[in-house]
Amino acid sequence: MLDRAAYIGGCDGVSTVLGAESLAERHSGTMPHSLALILGDTVKAAQSFDKRLPSEVPRIVLVDTFGDEKVESLRVAQALGKRLHGVRLDTPSSRRGDIRKIVEELRWELDLRGFQHVRIYVSGGLDEPQVAALEDILDGFGIGTSLSNAPVLDFAADIVEIEGKPIAKKGKFSGRKQALRCEKGHPVKPIPWVARSPGACPLCGAKVFGVLQTLLKNGKLLDALPSPQAIRKYVLSQLPAFAL
Ligand SMILES: [Zn+2]
Repeated sequence: MLDRAAYIGGCDGVSTVLGAESLAERHSGTMPHSLALILGDTVKAAQSFDKRLPSEVPRIVLVDTFGDEKVESLRVAQALGKRLHGVRLDTPSSRRGDIRKIVEELRWELDLRGFQHVRIYVSGGLDEPQVAALEDILDGFGIGTSLSNAPVLDFAADIVEIEGKPIAKKGKFSGRKQALRCEKGHPVKPIPWVARSPGACPLCGAKVFGVLQTLLKNGKLLDALPSPQAIRKYVLSQLPAFAL
């Protein structure tokens, strides 16, 4: 479920085999630190990874196991050349320093030596503000903890109407409501189901329409549920409206 929600929410890939299978997508990931630790050297780990994995797997090498990220990246780039797809920095925040400066320096040194094709990925305890602050200089992120422990969206399932009569416990608004969106995707405050006109969008003035649909009736699904790919496409199409 976690992989499914992350994928629908806009992540490009998921790393667990089962999660990817449930989405009918291919799982993705990079080498673990354990490979470099067992082989004792980052370049040896990169060469072993390159030698044994199927050719369609991008060669993304972890460069922060032992030494400096810049030195290790250049060593790996020289060893793998054009086959190196990217490098990943996964240093804990206690040893990381200024990650933006480190990435800028790394990009400079790679470019200077003809390794412009090498992409730079960062992972390790990143949250939304950190991703936003780095997205202009990075090619991708690996996000775990802040997705798997995301803040909860508080909601409750309450009775608000019985046999057509509005009734609710205190603290809740009684009666069925219509959820609304404007034609440009802005969310609009819900209105009572029986309201005559939903009006216009307070943000852009565009026409407003109700989004609720009957999917389940008398315990039976009325239509096939959309695929995760279709839901993801719909989610991403709405994001510009939430960026205001
Ligand atoms: Zn609007």
